[in-house]
Formats: sequence, structure tokens, C-alpha cells
Amino acid sequence: MSDPQQILEQTFGYTDFRGAQEEIISVLMSGGDALVLMPTGGGKSLCYQIPSLARAGCGIVISPLIALMQDQVAALTQLGIRAAFLNSTLTRSEAEAVEADLLTGRLDMLYVAPERLVQESTLELLDAAGIALFAIDEAHCVSQWGHDFRVDYLKLAVLENRYPDVPRIALTATADERTREEISERLHLEGARRFVAGFDRPNIRYRIALKNNPRTQLARFLADYRDAAGIVYCLSRKKTEDTAEWLVDQGFDALAYHAGLDSDVRAARQARFLREEAVIMVATIAFGMGIDKPDVRFVAHLDMPKTVEAYYQETGRAGRDGEPAEAWMVYGLQDVIKLRQMMAASEGSEEHKRAEQHRLNAMLGLCEVTTCRRQALLRYFGEVLPAPCGNCDNCLDPVETWDGTEAAQMALSAAYRTGQRFGVNHLIDLLRGERTEKIVQFRHDRLPTFGVGAGVDADQWRSVFRQLVARGNLSVAVDRFGALCLEESCRPILRGEEHVDLRRDVKRRAAAKQTKTPLPADIDVALWEALRDCRREFAEAQGVPPYVVFHDRTLKEMCARMPTDLEAMAGISGIGERKLEKYGPGFLEVIERHMAQA
Ligand code: ADP
Ligand code: ZN
Repeated sequence: MSDPQQILEQTFGYTDFRGAQEEIISVLMSGGDALVLMPTGGGKSLCYQIPSLARAGCGIVISPLIALMQDQVAALTQLGIRAAFLNSTLTRSEAEAVEADLLTGRLDMLYVAPERLVQESTLELLDAAGIALFAIDEAHCVSQWGHDFRVDYLKLAVLENRYPDVPRIALTATADERTREEISERLHLEGARRFVAGFDRPNIRYRIALKNNPRTQLARFLADYRDAAGIVYCLSRKKTEDTAEWLVDQGFDALAYHAGLDSDVRAARQARFLREEAVIMVATIAFGMGIDKPDVRFVAHLDMPKTVEAYYQETGRAGRDGEPAEAWMVYGLQDVIKLRQMMAASEGSEEHKRAEQHRLNAMLGLCEVTTCRRQALLRYFGEVLPAPCGNCDNCLDPVETWDGTEAAQMALSAAYRTGQRFGVNHLIDLLRGERTEKIVQFRHDRLPTFGVGAGVDADQWRSVFRQLVARGNLSVAVDRFGALCLEESCRPILRGEEHVDLRRDVKRRAAAKQTKTPLPADIDVALWEALRDCRREFAEAQGVPPYVVFHDRTLKEMCARMPTDLEAMAGISGIGERKLEKYGPGFLEVIERHMAQA
């Protein structure tokens, strides 16, 4: 079988190519190279899987994600594709068996770890084998600036010299321009066709709320996700453990994950997360690179990430399967102060620190924006979304703004009159005219600013200060215990030349309003559960994750269409020939039983 369209339908069970898939495949089919930037869930794998099948020889996939190779191979095997992997987890004789299969043309696809590939013995093996293409996955690992840098990726440039006639495709979901250039240069892909897809993830709903009682807020958010897998990100190791413990008390199946745990504990927890349907991973950023689980339904942040890039990457782990997913976060001024302190303590040049500061401000800006968050997020990556998305909190629940010019002036002059040496709590006491010990001690009750803002409550003042920091009018001096300092940009405000619109923070009551459930309203829940049970049984019997049997989307379509014979079953997306044969009858039985009961 050598026609890509036919392979798409018969092997994968899909009817149409998505986005640039078809074009990318045709470049490889004709022997050309490609550099592909596509967001997570965009459908990158198909771009090299289909040509691996359609071209003569075996497709070699280079991936740093050793822990996932087994599941990836299992998923391909389910489709009737002859796949294997070579990495350090194999015994010598297992590796030899794989090598023999490769040499005798019994493999369609082979996953290889980069450190393995660049060994001379592996290259010699490849010399003797028929090769359809090289796919370099997670290609941003060549970037020395990124935190995923792998030195072996640099050595992959050898492929161009050694196999000039074999097409190469490099793939990544990393957005920025500099990384793109580095990939092209370091992998010698200057001549490759470039495909840059938009970075929008339309199925992810963005929500960012003010942190007031994070655990209660999290519990309320998770009420919708009793039966789903998700990730909760925290800044510190201790917090991941405390939060996981607390979630377990609340009846969730939660696990902590951070770099301080033994590697076998981490591996076991990651395996549970990947293989089961409803595990919540409470993790530091140590968790995530290449979490290739398609059915992660939410990513929650209890602490604000340092940059928009990190936020995009972390939230991007939700909803790879294209089904509705949520990115939820709570944040407050305290997060900013904590991150600033960490930055100040870190090593690095002044220039580096300034750049970090800049990026933190952009993240803060995304939190405070009063218009569509998706538009703001994409704008950061240089993309224009013409209309508000309708799928973020600001679109769904428009933010009220108020004229905060006078309040801003009061807040700024409070910081100014006290010598820019005090933190937010003291400044609020001053504005509200509270005679605290500290106010009296510094004689701040004699300042003209004392009590001028008594009519506004402390929460509202906190909101004003937070937004002034986010706007860059005030900065937090970490070396002086979070003292608020005036920036150049506040001059026009103090002179009355600039108008300041502030967002009205939503009170907790309003934030509690639930806007969604993970399942479409018209789905028959009993049938859905029965299909999930059936999927779980098949998965357990083979020791693979449930999504390897069928994705949620396929089960939802079964619920909606209720096929009663194999022919109708074959028309459902994600059911190719092999899966139809293997699972079709079992699922048909579940549907029949359900219809008989109804
Ligand atoms: P990426 O590697 O870019 O994150 P994947 O290759 O894992 O994305 O694909 C994401 C999901 O989309 C998978 O569930 C995949 O089966 C599905 N998919 C990919 N291409 C198509 C297509 N042409 N039609 C339907 N589903 C597709
Ligand atoms: Zn929006």
C-alpha cells in the first residue's frame, strides 16, 4: 500500500488530512526534507508515520522520550503497523532481535533514542538497512538556550552527510523564531520546506482567576473533573506533596511529582498517570516534557509560571486529542514577589535578569488583560487572532472595568511619600488610615496621604497595586522585602495626563459559577460509561493505556451514532481496519445491550 490517502483511511480510520499534513507528506514522498512547527495536538506524528509506511524501507524516528517509546510502539502495533524501538531499556538479545527485523525488512517504523542513534554501531546498522526517512521529533532539543537541550541532538547533523538521499523531517511544538533558526542550522535543514502552523489551541479554554483561597478554588474547579486526568502545577516540591495529600483526602486520585523524588518513584508515578484514565499529577515543572498523553483534560496552575512561553507549554499538555480541555490558573501579587525573589537569587548577568523581568511582566500582563486571553496569548507569539475567541473567561464572562485614575494616583503617591521603602500591606494601611504600630512608628499618620483612601476596602486596594505592578508603573524591589518602587511610566499618571482603566476583580461568588461539563450535553452517560468500561477491559488485557484502544473522540462518536453493525462502526473516526476487526464486535455488543435496556 503506497497511497497516503488510502493509508489514512484504512490504517488510521480517518477520512481527511488536517492542516498541512497532506503537503508535508507529499514533500517527504518525493524525497524532500521538511521542518514542521505545529502546536501540540496538531497531528505531527501522522506526517512521518504515513510516509514511513508508504515509502520503501523503515522510518527511523529519533525521540528523546524513552519512557514513551513502549506506548508509542504499542499504539502503532494496534493499527497493524510493524514498529519497534531501540533504547537502553532493552536487553542485548531484545535489541538484537529488533536489529535483525530491521535488516530483513520486517519493520515499518523504528524509534531510536538520540544517544543510541549516533553510536557508530547503530549507524553501521542503518547503513545496511533500507531507510524510508528520518523523523527528528522534539527537534528543539538541539537548542542550547532551551531547557530541553540534549547534546546528542547536535550530533544528528551526521545524518545529512551519511544519508544524503534519505528525506528528513524535524518536528517541534516550540513556538519561537530563534529556536526555529537553530534547528535549521544545527540539523543542516536549510534546504528543508518549512511548515509553520498557527499556535492556537482552540479546544483549550483559558481561565485565570485571582488567588484568594487556592485550595477551595481548586476543589471547586476540580468538581467538574472527578473522572478525568489532569496536571496541577505548583512552584515548590513541598507544595506538590501537601496539595496531592490534600486532594487524596478530598477523594481524588492524586500523586505528587518533583525532581527530589527517587527516579524509580517518579517513573512509577508517571507510568500510572499515562496508563490510567483519572490520575491527577500534582507537579513542579520537572513533570511534563513530552507528556504524550492525549486525554489530559485540564492543566491547573496554583502558582504563576515565570514566562508566557512556559505557560503556553505547560497548558499545552491539555487536550492533545482535540477534545474540550481547560487551562486554569489562580494568581496574586504574592506570586510576582516570590518569582522576583527567585530571579534575584539566581545567577546570571544583569542583562539576563532584566530579560527575565521583562518576560515575567508579559506573563503578568496576560493575567491582568481585560480582553480576550487567547488574542493576547497569540499576540505574544506574533500571531493575530482577528476576533475574540469566545472560549476564555474574559470572553465568556466579560470583565468590568472602572476608572481607576484617581485611585492609581493615590496608590502611587503613597509609595512615593513613604520613600519607596514599603510593601503593599503597609501602603494599604496608610491609604485606609489604619493607625497600626508600624504606621505610628514611622509617623506615617502625619502624611497627607494618610486615610485618603478610607472609602475603598483593602481587597480593592490590593487589586489596584497589583494592576499597577502588572502595568509596569510600580516594581517590586526584592532586595528590600518587596518594597514598591515607582517606575518612569507613572509620571503621566501622577501629572493627570494618563487615564487608568482597571479591571474590577470578580468576587468569589461570581467565579464559582460553573460554565461547563466535560461531556457534551446530548451524550447518554450510561452508554458512555459502558463503552469506557469496555475500553478499559481491552486495555488492561493487553497492558496498554485505554487511549491506545480508542480515543475519547471515537467513543463519543459511538455514543452519538450508535452503530449497530460493523459497516457502520467502520465509518467512525479513529477506527481503521485492524481495530475494527479486533474491537468492533466487542463494542457492538455493548451498544446492543444498551439499546435493549433502553
Ligand atoms: P502532535 O504530535 O502534533 O501533538 P498527534 O500526532 O499526537 O499530535 O495528533 C493529535 C491527535 O490528532 C491524535 O489523537 C491523532 O490521532 C489525531 N489526528 C491526527 N491527524 C488526524 C486527522 N487527519 N484526522 C483525525 N485525527 C487526526
Ligand atoms: Zn477569548
